[in-house]
Amino acid sequence: MNLGAGSLLPAPFHKDAYMHIIVLNSGSNGNAVYVESAVSGAGVLLDCGISRRQIEQRLKVHGRYLQHIRGVFVTHEHADHVRGLPVLTRQLAIPTYMTEATFRGMHRNKPYKGHRFIGYNEEVQVEDIHVTAYAKTHDAADPVFFLVRIGKKRFLYATDLGEEAEELGRLLGLADAALLESNYDESMLENGPYPPYLKARIRAAHGHLSNVQAMELLQRHANGRLRTIILGHLSENNNTPECVQKEVDLLFSRRTDFRPRVVIASRHTVGEILTI
Ligand SMILES: [Zn+2]
Ligand SMILES: [Zn+2]
Repeated sequence: MNLGAGSLLPAPFHKDAYMHIIVLNSGSNGNAVYVESAVSGAGVLLDCGISRRQIEQRLKVHGRYLQHIRGVFVTHEHADHVRGLPVLTRQLAIPTYMTEATFRGMHRNKPYKGHRFIGYNEEVQVEDIHVTAYAKTHDAADPVFFLVRIGKKRFLYATDLGEEAEELGRLLGLADAALLESNYDESMLENGPYPPYLKARIRAAHGHLSNVQAMELLQRHANGRLRTIILGHLSENNNTPECVQKEVDLLFSRRTDFRPRVVIASRHTVGEILTI
């Protein structure tokens, strides 16, 4: 078996295809998204909240290997975003990019070596993949969301935010694809088993986006350029894909002007290859 990057067979090349996105897992049990250049075959990982073994197995479903990962970008230090980092980075010796405060907050989930600090609004380049971090509000040391650009295509990756971050609306308007958090159904959270302090934490400006909040963001900012919408980071106890779908249907009954592909990311299995 050839594990080198040369073994990568990009999906049939189309002149307008720049990027392949594979959601390896999305949810409070673990987050990791593989983004690959359809031009060079290089890949990066956005968050590493599942084990090295899981990442390897899920990439393999689509004929990808760990060796295709050239760097890991971390949004914040919560375990569901960094759990797999120490083992993965020890094996691969690839750089990990995050803010300095996120690194300090990681404790035992720090990358093995080769970490690099990033600031807001600064584009970092890994081969032909350009990644920019933007500030958001969430109950972590210095959380960010990412805009990934390859060629002329842009992918927005925004989960774990309690309210609309300053730049989020503008960037949604520029994106060709977006993974947006759709964490909880408001009535399931209200009537569910969580104690009042936890319900308040989830709803707060430093918590998570509800299904309704996610749709409001799309209602206001999305335009015809946004052809792929991934809704993710669904709560296990306070949401279901059916609840999310109901809100999606409502959104499209109001916004009849655009009809993107909508994918609800799984908490348990690897997603399909999304090419943009
Ligand atoms: Zn999370
Ligand atoms: Zn978090």
